[in-house]
Amino acid sequence: MKIVVQKFGGTSVQDAEAMRRVIEIVRKRGITRRTRPLVVLSACAGVTNALIRIGELSLKADINEALTAVDQMEARHARIARELLEAEEKIEPVQKRLHLLWEELRMLVRGINLLRELTLRSKDQVQSMGERASSLIFQMALASELVDDGVSVHLYDAREFFLTTQEFTAARPITNEIVRRMKRIQSALLKGAVGVTQGFIGSTAAGEVTTIGRGGSDFSAAMMGVALGAQEIQIWTDVAGIMTCDPRLAPGAQTIERISFREASELAFFGAKVLHPETIWPAVENGIPVLVLSSNDPEKAGTIIVGSTNEARPLTGIAVKRSAALVRLSSIGSEPDATAMRMVWEMLAESGAIPLAVSVSVDAASYAFGDRTAIPMLRTAMEGIARLEAVQDRALITLVGPGLHTQAGIAARIFRVLGRTNCEMISYGGSESAISLVVEDGVSNRIVKRLHAEFFER
Ligand code: ADP
Ligand code: ASP
Ligand code: MG
Repeated sequence: MKIVVQKFGGTSVQDAEAMRRVIEIVRKRGITRRTRPLVVLSACAGVTNALIRIGELSLKADINEALTAVDQMEARHARIARELLEAEEKIEPVQKRLHLLWEELRMLVRGINLLRELTLRSKDQVQSMGERASSLIFQMALASELVDDGVSVHLYDAREFFLTTQEFTAARPITNEIVRRMKRIQSALLKGAVGVTQGFIGSTAAGEVTTIGRGGSDFSAAMMGVALGAQEIQIWTDVAGIMTCDPRLAPGAQTIERISFREASELAFFGAKVLHPETIWPAVENGIPVLVLSSNDPEKAGTIIVGSTNEARPLTGIAVKRSAALVRLSSIGSEPDATAMRMVWEMLAESGAIPLAVSVSVDAASYAFGDRTAIPMLRTAMEGIARLEAVQDRALITLVGPGLHTQAGIAARIFRVLGRTNCEMISYGGSESAISLVVEDGVSNRIVKRLHAEFFER
């Protein structure tokens, strides 16, 4: 018997109908004569955002808005459970357990409201509810589906085995301990059981619930796949694989059938949300193939991510990071000041705010960040040392491709597409396989469509 990990994102479990499709996918692609799956679930679509809002609403003097939002969440999950399970005797125990979850959330809301304090620790307690609720409903539904086949379905609480550091809201998984704690899950699956668990959440050694960052369920699934020695990690989402561009931005985007770990992680790093940027590494190190597939269209081949591909295609895809920020630092005096530049790097390294692209000249450097969080920190630290100009609402558009540097004329084609559009920064040559541009976010849709047409639709 071998193990496969099947991860389903928010839209794949957004309602009863979607969960039914997931059950079919688990039956066809998870449970085979030679495999058993660990099913890793996200919260139902929109729930994590709603929980974050509930946390913030809890700080208001009037607690009712937060409590109403909890009621709505309870109603939504109750409906999913009812529609999915149908028979009353199955619905009842799930509703009871769900109700306990929402009562726990109401207590948290009251606690936050009383203390008027929303710590990262309590944010994680609030945010963990989404995955806990979706997995609870799904496990019951899957178990009742498989009971006639004699296959048992266990719900594994990630808080019991997914050990993390205590950096609440951005905790790091502790691999060795996860491997150790997952041994019992591994042996149950190898004996023929099916497992269901939560992505995104874990706990500290002291047993406090943590989350590993937005979109982190992909990363959870990859870590779990490694810990279980899985033969394959399937990431099921709402698009058929990794595409040449976000199809919402470029309707002509096409699925990339085979992609190397490096290409996929570069696309993810530069903003292709389809995969959490860190997903790839645990899988690469252990040589486990990762598949990206569509739960709306399960027969489609999707994308397979492999160690390396033979063909060095010039261009793999275009990634876009909206809400980027651009920071330009220049020497205060007339002389170029290397000390200031060194200090910037030291500070960025210490704070973990890593620029996605950099462009340097003799007395100035521009740094593009994925968001604006680094700006206030740089502003304080650079006071009296360097002149700082910062702009927000920018889009960082990156062309990724292993053979990019060997393609004569690429830059000319990019500039032709840009036409009269102001490009505030361009970074080329730092990485052999990426060219990044920064433009105002307002024009990014148009530019991305045109770049995609220029490089992929001719
Ligand atoms: P999930 O909830 O399943 O994790 P996400 O919303 O996180 O799903 O990721 C899927 C979305 O990623 C797609 O709907 C698509 O809009 C977006 N996306 C961005 N870049 C790409 C790309 N290169 N290929 C495919 N999808 C992309
Ligand atoms: N539910 C979490 C989020 O929305 C994790 C995930 O879906 O990957 O960020
Ligand atoms: Mg995601």
